[in-house]
Amino acid sequence: MADLIRINQFTKHYVMGETIVRALDGVNITIKEGEFISITGASGSGKSTLMHLLGCLDRPSAGEYWLDGDLVSHMSDKQLAIVRNKKIGFVFQTFNLIQRTTAVDNVSVPLFYARQARVKEPSLRALERVGLGHRAYHTPSEMSGGERQRVAIARAIVAEPKIILADEPTGNLDSRTGEQIMQIFHELNRAGVTVIIVTHEMAVAVQAQRVIAMRDGRIIEDGGIDDAFRARMLGQERTAASLPERSPPMARPLQV
Ligand code: ADP
Ligand code: MG
Repeated sequence: MADLIRINQFTKHYVMGETIVRALDGVNITIKEGEFISITGASGSGKSTLMHLLGCLDRPSAGEYWLDGDLVSHMSDKQLAIVRNKKIGFVFQTFNLIQRTTAVDNVSVPLFYARQARVKEPSLRALERVGLGHRAYHTPSEMSGGERQRVAIARAIVAEPKIILADEPTGNLDSRTGEQIMQIFHELNRAGVTVIIVTHEMAVAVQAQRVIAMRDGRIIEDGGIDDAFRARMLGQERTAASLPERSPPMARPLQV
């Protein structure tokens, strides 16, 4: 499979008065089309910053980003917005829905931005794909957390992006509901969508094919995982509720 994402010496610095926060400090990642990746790391390690940059919501302070053959790190805001609309769907921990608007209208938002003529049909189809066809005309305020997240996923996939970026998508859900949300990501991945999920939860992280662990704006581990590794990690989770700050070595280091 072709490289879908390639970032080279990715750096993001925030100037805060006298100090510089190195949110990302020279990150290199290559991601192939169709991968399912989880990103883990302690709070403040740079996960959300990385997701923002991967999602073309912001540009790096330094470094290059190749997305689907285009050098997007040097594009204008306008060009970035077009790429983002076409290629990327976002899912957030807090759903980010418009509370008083129906599910189907929430899902339509990216199609309006893309100035697509037909919005209703694809939006209803996206809701059906996440099992919420019957709730299309309800508002998020009438829905459970799991249903809200499914609306957010429908919104993320309505324009048929190649990539789904999800920043702690199960963080506000109970584990059973979180598991249902993960099943939707698995189905999307089986259909060919590249899925990248940030998570603190070991049970979520090990569902990916590859785990990237971050600390202090850098990658400290990046490797493919197998069933033996999964079983070992889930065994450990009985004693530790969340990921250790430094992940253990991956079972099968990825060839770079
Ligand atoms: P994570 O998602 O892993 O918790 P973040 O990417 O949100 O980490 O943050 C990484 C570091 O960058 C933290 O030290 C955070 O305080 C800092 N940071 C993130 N966004 C900004 C910003 N807009 N301005 C200044 N500092 C920021
Ligand atoms: Mg974060």
